[in-house]
Amino acid sequence: MLKRYLLAPGPTPVPPEALLAMARPVVHHRTPAFSELFRSAAEESRVLFGTAEPVMLLACTGTGAMEAAVTNTLSAGDRVIVVSGGKFGQRWADIARAYRLEVVIIEVEWGEAVDPGRVAEELDRHPDTRGVLVQHSETSTTVLHPVEKLAELTRERDCLLIVDGISSVGVIDSRMDEVGIDVLVTASQKALMLPPGLALVALSEKAWTFNASSTLPRHYFDLAKERDSVEKHTSAYTPAVALITGLAVVYEMIREAGGWQESYRRHRILAEATRKGVEAMGLSLLAPRSPSPAATGAWVPRGIDGGELTTHLREVMGVTVAGGQGKLAGKIVRLAHIGYADSFDVITGLSAVEMALAALGSDVELGRGPAAAQAVLLDMYRKA
Ligand SMILES: *Cc1c(COP(=O)(O)O)cnc(C)c1O
Repeated sequence: MLKRYLLAPGPTPVPPEALLAMARPVVHHRTPAFSELFRSAAEESRVLFGTAEPVMLLACTGTGAMEAAVTNTLSAGDRVIVVSGGKFGQRWADIARAYRLEVVIIEVEWGEAVDPGRVAEELDRHPDTRGVLVQHSETSTTVLHPVEKLAELTRERDCLLIVDGISSVGVIDSRMDEVGIDVLVTASQKALMLPPGLALVALSEKAWTFNASSTLPRHYFDLAKERDSVEKHTSAYTPAVALITGLAVVYEMIREAGGWQESYRRHRILAEATRKGVEAMGLSLLAPRSPSPAATGAWVPRGIDGGELTTHLREVMGVTVAGGQGKLAGKIVRLAHIGYADSFDVITGLSAVEMALAALGSDVELGRGPAAAQAVLLDMYRKA
């Protein structure tokens, strides 16, 4: 028997409470009972985002909402600056180019966060820029970008800050309105602990004014139409009934566990413990300077093939972690600590990586990674 552990940064494990709720017979969506469920899920989503604006629930994965963020705020020929320091940064550029925008790329070394000074320079060089597109947490490189600093740059300009928060919302406080994020996107299969297929997106007051004059083509992803529907506690088309039912359960679980601040604290500690563990087993962190609290990346030691390592972990040991994407393929391993994750997922992940390295012939001393993590995690369990 191979027991399976899912420790990849999406899709993430789904708690049994949500699975059971989603297994119930599908209810019709144009009913008072579902409207109430939709209303409460949409309302709690505003708390999660930190916005007074409506949060729209779309039946698609995160990329659909990223595309909607672009098509609902910009017009053909508009100039945008894309922070590209990983696979998801590249995705922003791909979407923007598909819609014939003028794309200025800021290439960031994979594993590094963008220097806000470089964004400021490009904004000064191109004062007509209408959008800065960035990931809050660049999952492919396990980097956290300085979104607050970027918001200081876009706030006073005629330019939107469009943020992919797919692996940051629920992990770190978004505070959308306070920070000055203009479009914020997330998806169900990361910190929201649900299967893939539901995306959440909100526009700031400023972004809605861009929406009013934006001319890019759109039909299914027409956010003005969705906003009108949200006000009526529904979506424009058939909502993802099961996923929204699951979302309501997840929100209830988060509330019972002490709320979002407690979720952010848990992610901070799990990330810290994972980093300490990875370093204690002699691996180097991929993003030592600005690590994401969603997942931790480490360079695979010399002589070990990262692809072989992750395959061995998954097929022989039952532990699914992520490897590298794009130019990091085969070179890194990523351990997620996002969503339905706790101390013992961290210990399992570190222990499994250590054992897999040993099994593949690497010179590791067993137990050092988990021990270093335990030392960090123990604080959460001390007698009051
Ligand atoms: C997971 C992830 C996505 C994924 O998009 P999907 O369309 O849901 O596959 C996009 N951006 C980031 C930062 C992610 O972590």
